[in-house]
Amino acid sequence: MKKNNFQKSAANLKKAVPLMVKHHVPATPANYALWYTYVDQTVPELNEQVDALLKDYDVLPPVNANTLYREHIANKAEVDLGNLKQNMEALVSEVSSSMTDAIADTSDFSKVLTKSFDGLSSSIEGNNNPTLDEVMPLIQELVDEANDIRHSTDFIHNQLKSASDEISRLKIELAKVQCNAMFDSLTSIYNRGAFDADLTMFCDAKQPMSLIFLDIDHFKKFNDELGHLFGDTILKGIAQRLKQACRGGISAYRFGGEEFALIVPNKSLRVARQMADTIRLSIEKMAIKDRKSGNKMGNVTASFGVAEFVDGDTYDSLVGKADKQLYDAKRSGRNRVMPY
Ligand code: GH3
Ligand code: MG
Ligand code: MG
Repeated sequence: MKKNNFQKSAANLKKAVPLMVKHHVPATPANYALWYTYVDQTVPELNEQVDALLKDYDVLPPVNANTLYREHIANKAEVDLGNLKQNMEALVSEVSSSMTDAIADTSDFSKVLTKSFDGLSSSIEGNNNPTLDEVMPLIQELVDEANDIRHSTDFIHNQLKSASDEISRLKIELAKVQCNAMFDSLTSIYNRGAFDADLTMFCDAKQPMSLIFLDIDHFKKFNDELGHLFGDTILKGIAQRLKQACRGGISAYRFGGEEFALIVPNKSLRVARQMADTIRLSIEKMAIKDRKSGNKMGNVTASFGVAEFVDGDTYDSLVGKADKQLYDAKRSGRNRVMPY
């Protein structure tokens, strides 16, 4: 991240946190992103809406915060999610380390106070002729003052400590969000975003590989006849079989809907299409139980298109080649791998 971007981010977060405390906003990553954008003033409509809500309620009701987040931030973040998360990570560790420094500073300050208080007490003790009436108020005053200061530094210390704990927690949560963003929530295999990122990187690196596309045959019929939840069970079953095929650097992705993809590094078209055929047979053998009727459902099949990366291929051209093969597999009768 560029240094000035980073400084700006740090300054924004420092402004955002006190506002969140003031308005009793729970410290979730979404809320941090919302208030960060608010102080950044890059989305004027967001600021207008937040200001209007604060005028009405004095707090930001969670439902409204959620809607604002989805409208103004989540969609945008999707465009450049990776970059946003990287910035947040760097930012959080920066603020976290400067807070750790501040904690060390106040601890030292506290020690210095204790020491000078002790010094003052002993210098009074060293006076040979003090009357009790003279000394008592002085001591009392020093004790009170030192205690006051010590309490207030303890207070700051505790506040900084809890802010630092909060940031550590946030860091863990961000890592989780970052991780979840790569997986499909229904099937738990990699999602389309992960597929796009991986395939683009492999193509740029001219990594020898083959690409397998898979589309369930007549899937709409299963949904229509047995319900969408049953359809979901089929999707999960297929994802599980694809996962089992993931050895030697192979990754499985849900490309979208009832379409899946496998990136097979360092394997020729011939080897990849053999793999595809093995998967095709394992899907054919799948028996999925319908929870309602208890009946075992067979005859789920899928069609496959396979393509090999050649020099000069891009994400688009490689996906296009695999897509075309998949289309041919559908056209020539389904439940088969193309090229034959
Ligand atoms: P074909 O053999 O030509 O591929 O026919 P098909 O019925 O599989 O293809 P079509 O594209 O007509 O239908 C795909 C269906 O997949 C339609 C959509 O409702 C369903 N679908 C997409 N995503 C999901 C999902 O997450 N869950 C369920 N249950 N169904 C889904
Ligand atoms: Mg389809
Ligand atoms: Mg289909």
